[in-house]
Amino acid sequence: MTQVTGRCLCGKVSYKATLESAVGACHCGMCRRWSGGSLLAATAKDDIEIDGGEHISSYASSAWAERAFCKHCGSNLYYRLLPNPNIPVSQYHLAAGTFDDQDNVSFEQEIYVDHKPSWYQFAGEENRKRLTEAELLALYGVG
Ligand SMILES: [Zn+2]
Ligand SMILES: [Zn+2]
Repeated sequence: MTQVTGRCLCGKVSYKATLESAVGACHCGMCRRWSGGSLLAATAKDDIEIDGGEHISSYASSAWAERAFCKHCGSNLYYRLLPNPNIPVSQYHLAAGTFDDQDNVSFEQEIYVDHKPSWYQFAGEENRKRLTEAELLALYGVG
């Protein structure tokens, strides 16, 4: 598990968190619209410490998750899976572009690869786990 710090573009929101996963990319249509590309994010424990939380706004993108961003600069901060019967605490997927340290990041998974448009792809994909929507749903039960 890795400790990370990060912040939004304007700096009004910063955080400290413990990562539980490497960075993954989500190619689903919602993440692409929200992030302007694919969403690159890592899962963090729910003991995340946020400074400037009053500057955060969030959008309920589904019944089970919300997407948070800085009200001032618009930086996407995290996708938060709300507590559910399988995972009784919030699960944060922190936007990797907000990490202060960009040198010690590992990128190990891509999801919704069957939704990825053909005009882009990440190099080295043979070194990563790549899951389609059906494979992901079979593994976790939720997207
Ligand atoms: Zn900001
Ligand atoms: Zn997605």
